[in-house]
Amino acid sequence: MTEILVVGASIAGQTLAYWLARHGMRPTVVERAPRLRVGGNGVDLRDQATEVAERMGIMSRVRAAATDVRGIKFVDASDRAVARMNMSRGGEIEIMRGDLVALLHEVAAPEVEYVFGDSVRSMEEDGGGVTVSFEGGATRRFDLVIGADGLHSSVRRLAFGPEARFLRHMGHYFAFANADAALAEDRWVTMYNQPGKMAGLYRSGNHDQAKAYFIFRSEPLEYDHRDVEQHRTLLKEAFGHETSWRVGELLEGALADPELYFDALSQVRLPSWSSGRVALVGDAAYCASPASGAGAELAVVGAYRLAEELASASDHQVAFRRYEEEHRELVRRKQQIGPNVRMMVPKNRLGMWARNAFASSMGLLSRSS
Ligand SMILES: Cc1cc2nc3c(=O)[nH]c(=O)nc-3n(C[C@H](O)[C@H](O)[C@H](O)COP(=O)(O)OP(=O)(O)OC[C@H]3O[C@@H](n4cnc5c(N)ncnc54)[C@H](O)[C@@H]3O)c2cc1C
Repeated sequence: MTEILVVGASIAGQTLAYWLARHGMRPTVVERAPRLRVGGNGVDLRDQATEVAERMGIMSRVRAAATDVRGIKFVDASDRAVARMNMSRGGEIEIMRGDLVALLHEVAAPEVEYVFGDSVRSMEEDGGGVTVSFEGGATRRFDLVIGADGLHSSVRRLAFGPEARFLRHMGHYFAFANADAALAEDRWVTMYNQPGKMAGLYRSGNHDQAKAYFIFRSEPLEYDHRDVEQHRTLLKEAFGHETSWRVGELLEGALADPELYFDALSQVRLPSWSSGRVALVGDAAYCASPASGAGAELAVVGAYRLAEELASASDHQVAFRRYEEEHRELVRRKQQIGPNVRMMVPKNRLGMWARNAFASSMGLLSRSS
């Protein structure tokens, strides 16, 4: 039976592990955090991703847990809505990231070995497999190793080289944190802009808590992506002097939130998603960034395709090649995020005005006072 190490217990890793087990392989999922990481805002499932969720038997529960956000409103400093944009969702479903991660865990866990609080220290590949040394001290042997460990993937660093070669900085940083639901209008995403910056609130009627989020333009900054204290300092530097709208209140809450999530708006671009017996899936391979609204979709569809190919191909090399051939085009399309960023964070006041006017003229937005 093929033994496969999957690194990362989030959307890509758990979807992959579920399907590998369904195909008769033996996946082990190792997650660095001591438990599932359930932070984050809403993520979208659409098209093939909803089909995959349907096949996993979780779609009815995804629908039941779905957010019911109606749209985005842009506000001025006195909290007056200057424009509203209704979201026409079509077949797309938004669910809180943490709810999706937990649902995937529920269906995968009965068939999959999970190891929490550990990670890969080194990997040594030979003709017959990969010997993996774990940070916790264990050494184990696997046929294949799949990195599903997100934007700052350790598997990618070990098998492909330093992340600076593959991360493309998209000119902005962002942060998510929990916020008091009383601050946000029920079922609306609220965005407040200053040139090159956005502070916002996200509130789904189906959830008790609201989420605060922040985006700011910046050249690449030097910091440790795992050092939360540094994240707090950078966020404070970017928004600490903003006193307009509710920025001060939101910032105070975010800085006190132990689950504060901060990162660069980056994309991952790799010439190949596999090297020998190691392959990558999800953000580790092709992060499109939260501004794409497509991270979960790419992770779910990519993981499903990779498992299918491993189950049907004559060997792992053929499977890795086919997975990549099939998935590249979707990734290419979803990585085109320029318009989304310009819409959320106009560079200057003229851009802010143009965004509101454009959206209104599209009929998606109705100006209100
Ligand atoms: C806490 C958190 C909050 C997020 N919030 C949002 C959001 O609000 N909106 C949005 O669009 N996207 C968000 N994302 C990113 C989003 O989940 C991904 O873009 C997308 O769903 C693809 O998921 P993924 O499984 O490839 O990667 P991720 O969801 O990033 O998961 C990677 C997993 O690997 C684990 N991991 C990392 N390094 C190692 C290691 N060395 N060894 C073992 N495990 C490791 C991480 O702890 C994590 O569980 C968030 C990610 C995280 C981790």
